[in-house]
Amino acid sequence: MTESSNCFDIIAIGAGPGGAGAAIHALENGYSVCLIEKATLEPKGRYKACGGAMDWKLVEKLAYPEDKIERVVETLELHHLDGENYTKKGKGAVVWRSVFDKFLVDQLKDQGGIIKENEAVVDLKRQGENYTVFTPKGKYQGKYILAADGVTSPTLKQLKWPRIASEDIIITITEERKVTNQKITQWLGKDSLHLFFSVKQLSQLGYGWLFPKNQELTVGWGNQLSRVKHAKQEFKKLHKLPLVRTMVQEAPLTRFKAHLIPVGIRSQIYHENVYAIGDAGGFVDPISGKGIPYALQSGQIAIKTIKKCEQKDLLEKQSHYYEATLEKAFLEMLKKKQVAREKIYENDQSLKQFLALWESYRSSEIIRRDLMKNI
Ligand SMILES: Cc1cc2nc3c(=O)[nH]c(=O)nc-3n(C[C@H](O)[C@H](O)[C@H](O)COP(=O)(O)OP(=O)(O)OC[C@H]3O[C@@H](n4cnc5c(N)ncnc54)[C@H](O)[C@@H]3O)c2cc1C
Repeated sequence: MTESSNCFDIIAIGAGPGGAGAAIHALENGYSVCLIEKATLEPKGRYKACGGAMDWKLVEKLAYPEDKIERVVETLELHHLDGENYTKKGKGAVVWRSVFDKFLVDQLKDQGGIIKENEAVVDLKRQGENYTVFTPKGKYQGKYILAADGVTSPTLKQLKWPRIASEDIIITITEERKVTNQKITQWLGKDSLHLFFSVKQLSQLGYGWLFPKNQELTVGWGNQLSRVKHAKQEFKKLHKLPLVRTMVQEAPLTRFKAHLIPVGIRSQIYHENVYAIGDAGGFVDPISGKGIPYALQSGQIAIKTIKKCEQKDLLEKQSHYYEATLEKAFLEMLKKKQVAREKIYENDQSLKQFLALWESYRSSEIIRRDLMKNI
């Protein structure tokens, strides 16, 4: 373990679940680590546009405190605008990302991890064995870099890595609104999330959503960036739906934010001791938009790769080991889902057939068992 003032084994850039999760794992494995985040995290974490939905299994795995959960959910209500509704059962939680991400950062702090917040990485250079990372406040050295700074990854841009293709990017718009729990229970149900689909009327490659929290409601919409002419206007189509209109009436808007989701893998995810983690690698489920678990997993796999390759003195094999382990863990399935997504969203008929299957099966099961062959 190397650590002298500003010199570390590993520098993780971005304090989302990818960077913070990886930094915790690095410390646990005996590495010195510095986590650099451009936003201010204290005192309450930074807001991030996100549905904040997680499987209950992940809540349990992380021992995520129940008092930090905004709502426990049991049901996904899938509405197709042609009039068909489908119900998918499954326990999950809805969280604020500010709270969730801070929970991870606090764990890192408790374990003695070093966090530089309110410092954006503006440049990095490889000098001999190490990278030097520059922020407006200082410079830091590290042998390994974890680029966990989101879909547009300024770090990977600096290093001139290939970008994620625009057809593999979803543009989303999110509104946060104040709503009483009474109204949520009356119109949405106490434990339900609502998703809205229609290729013709709402989104050619995406959907709209109402994710209730505690006395607040997240209203969101996403579509493939390359197909969107005017995102704000297209988002307004969601507001015209009767259930959405009812929910947003007299529900003061507290935030409005556009954000991107990658739904295709970056063509390069490792090079010369630099690892793409989470959204920076494009590790998001292309059908649901779920990315938190893949950000956490890819961070852990990066640390496992470093450790294994160092122990075996096979540093030149890092690329192979990282890619092969990710492939087995989830990349193979994400790539299949990327292909399936085109088929699902071909038209409203195929979309409805998928929703009918999704009621009873996990999306990975639909693909693995080839249940869509008749679509
Ligand atoms: C509208 C929307 C809804 C979503 N809903 C869900 C959901 O319900 N469930 C789910 O699982 N996933 C959801 N996702 C996806 C999920 O938010 C991402 O996959 C997840 O946040 C990826 O984590 P990450 O750590 O890779 O990146 P991020 O969480 O994006 O973190 C990147 C961090 O890097 C920092 N950063 C950026 N540039 C720099 C720099 N130059 N220097 C230092 N720091 C920098 C940023 O401030 C940020 O904190 C949603 C995404 C969107 C946009």
